[in-house]
Amino acid sequence: MNNQSMIEYIKEGLLNFVFPLDCKVCEKPIRESKGYSICEDCFKTIELIERPYCVKCGKPLIPTDFFKQNREILCLDCKIKKYSFEFSRSMGIYDKVLKKCIHLFKYYGEKKLAKPLGKLMVDYLLKNNEFENKFDLIIPVPLHKNDLNKRGFNQSVLLGKVIGDYFSVPVGESVLIKKKLTPFQVNLSRKEREKNILRAFSVEKPEEIKGKNVLILDDVFTTGATVEECAKELMKARAKNILVLTLSRTV
Ligand SMILES: [Zn+2]
Ligand SMILES: [Zn+2]
Repeated sequence: MNNQSMIEYIKEGLLNFVFPLDCKVCEKPIRESKGYSICEDCFKTIELIERPYCVKCGKPLIPTDFFKQNREILCLDCKIKKYSFEFSRSMGIYDKVLKKCIHLFKYYGEKKLAKPLGKLMVDYLLKNNEFENKFDLIIPVPLHKNDLNKRGFNQSVLLGKVIGDYFSVPVGESVLIKKKLTPFQVNLSRKEREKNILRAFSVEKPEEIKGKNVLILDDVFTTGATVEECAKELMKARAKNILVLTLSRTV
């Protein structure tokens, strides 16, 4: 531990001693503060998505015998749709503790959650051999500069750094940019989302993409419209292959 992190550590310890933090999920006091307001016990309840899921978009499927025995199953959407990425996977369901974590992380500035959440994504990648040796560049989904200024950080970049550090893979931060300001997507239909996000991204440094096996990273997969737009642009810049990983996925 260097001096700076030692000082941080002591400061947090003192703060936690004077103002004990309650876990935002179970409401019990957190014994050892790590700078975020979810206790270890609650954090451990986050479950990773396991098979069966759609081989293309990673959508969890009902574990019937048929789905359990057939590994090459597409969901109904993917039977019609064409994606520019090889496949997409999500680490967990956007629900319960994981949803709470993402809210605290994105909207309440608990930046330090990047570490345990990023670590969970690393565990997921280690468990899921579909990703093994298949990416040599991480591209976090960019925010528009106005949104970045408002939030002060890009959650996907912070997650990307944890993963990149672990696997010694570079993180391309300003390679892909979001040039179009899109309205808040939460209450929009699939069609509206797709229309909004159309041509929202552009590759600023195509020389850094050409021939690369890219891992696109995002926090939530909803309809897949955002990661698909990113993948499309990266393919135009002649990426070799594209995989997608998101921290969570709505169901
Ligand atoms: Zn708790
Ligand atoms: Zn699918």
